[in-house]
Amino acid sequence: MKKAIYAGSFDPVTLGHLDIIRRAAKLFDCLVVAVLENPNKKSLFTVEERKCHLELATKELENVEVASFRGLLAEFAKEIGATVAVRGLRNTMDFTTEYQMYLINRKLGKEIETVFLAADEEHLSLSSTNVKEVAVFGGNIDFMVPAEIKPFIIEKYQK
Ligand code: ADP
Repeated sequence: MKKAIYAGSFDPVTLGHLDIIRRAAKLFDCLVVAVLENPNKKSLFTVEERKCHLELATKELENVEVASFRGLLAEFAKEIGATVAVRGLRNTMDFTTEYQMYLINRKLGKEIETVFLAADEEHLSLSSTNVKEVAVFGGNIDFMVPAEIKPFIIEKYQK
């Protein structure tokens, strides 16, 4: 069974992330979408909230599981038996950072292969940061996030 992992902050999950998840789910028998717990990074949503959002957004995808992890991707992948790391690429900036990550992951564990999926042109300008920048001023985020996640974002900024 070919198991892949798609890791990220997903703070919050965007339509860009979801597109990568849907496409990767078609390529592998099982895709684990893993929320990276990074205590040094200030986040809008807790890890549990982000997992819940991902579960809602992927509920129709039968071979997709949601998890969270701390520490190194290569180690978590080994732990769960994933042999492929999926990453999304929007632009040359993503390429530069993702390629560096790839080289580091290779040094940490040769067992894991990285597969890069190019972002759909509709999602090229989407990032979790952009979502927050628009949502904080009450702007329309319909084209940025899965419909079922939108209320959670709005609620967060109403508090
Ligand atoms: P960030 O680094 O902004 O917190 P994530 O960690 O959530 O973003 O991103 C996880 C992965 O998803 C990365 O490989 C990133 O390049 C990819 N990604 C992010 N946004 C998009 C998008 N709009 N389209 C395709 N891939 C994306």
